[in-house]
Amino acid sequence: MPRVIHPLSRPYATRWGAPVVDRVDTAIFEQRYFVGCMDCTYCFDSCCAYGVDVDGTNVARLQEHQEGLEALTGVPMERWFSGEWNDDKEFPGGRQTRTRVEGGACVFRNRQGRGCLIHKYALERGIDYHLLKPLVSALFPLTFDYGLLHPSNEIQDSSLQCYGDGPTLYEGVRDEVAWYFGADLVAELDALRQGALAQNAPST
Ligand code: SF4
Repeated sequence: MPRVIHPLSRPYATRWGAPVVDRVDTAIFEQRYFVGCMDCTYCFDSCCAYGVDVDGTNVARLQEHQEGLEALTGVPMERWFSGEWNDDKEFPGGRQTRTRVEGGACVFRNRQGRGCLIHKYALERGIDYHLLKPLVSALFPLTFDYGLLHPSNEIQDSSLQCYGDGPTLYEGVRDEVAWYFGADLVAELDALRQGALAQNAPST
C-alpha cells in the first residue's frame, strides 16, 4: 500500500477543541504493532522511556488527584512534570509541558509491574482514564502534527519494539480516535481504509 497524505472532508477537532486534524497519513492503515500492550512479555514498557507531552488542562486534572497519585506512584507532585511550558494551539488549553523522566522512564510508569500508573489509578477508581491519561499516550502509536494524523516517530523509524507484528495502527487505536475526535472521523477513516484496501487488493 503506497503511503499517501489524504485530505479529510472537513477538519475534526477533539471534544476539547484541540488538536484539529484535516489530513491523514494512510500508513496508519498499513503499519502494524502488537496492540495488546499488557500482554507483551518483551518490551518492558519501553515506549514510556521518554515521558510524554501533556496539555495544561490535563495537568490541572491530574493535580486534583495529588494525594491518590502520590500514594500510588511514590513520586511527589513537584516531580511529575518537567516545569517547562510551551504555547501550542494543537493541545487543549493552548499549552503543553512534559512528564518527567526519572531512572530511565516516565515518572508515571509502574516500577513494580507493568503499564501506566495514571491508567491504573483511573481504572481502580472508576474514572474514565481519558480524563487523566495524556491524550498523546492514549492515541499512541498515532499522533498529530499541524493537522496531520499520522504514525508516531517510533513507528516511522521502526524503533518501537513491537513494530510490524499484529493489527494495524488504526485498528489498535480506532476506539481512542472515536473517543477524542468522534464517530464522524472514524466513519470517514473506515471508508478511507476500505478504499485503500480495495485499491491494493491483488487482481484476479
Ligand atoms: S503517562 Fe503513562 S502511558 Fe504516558 S509515557 Fe507516562 S507512563 Fe507511559
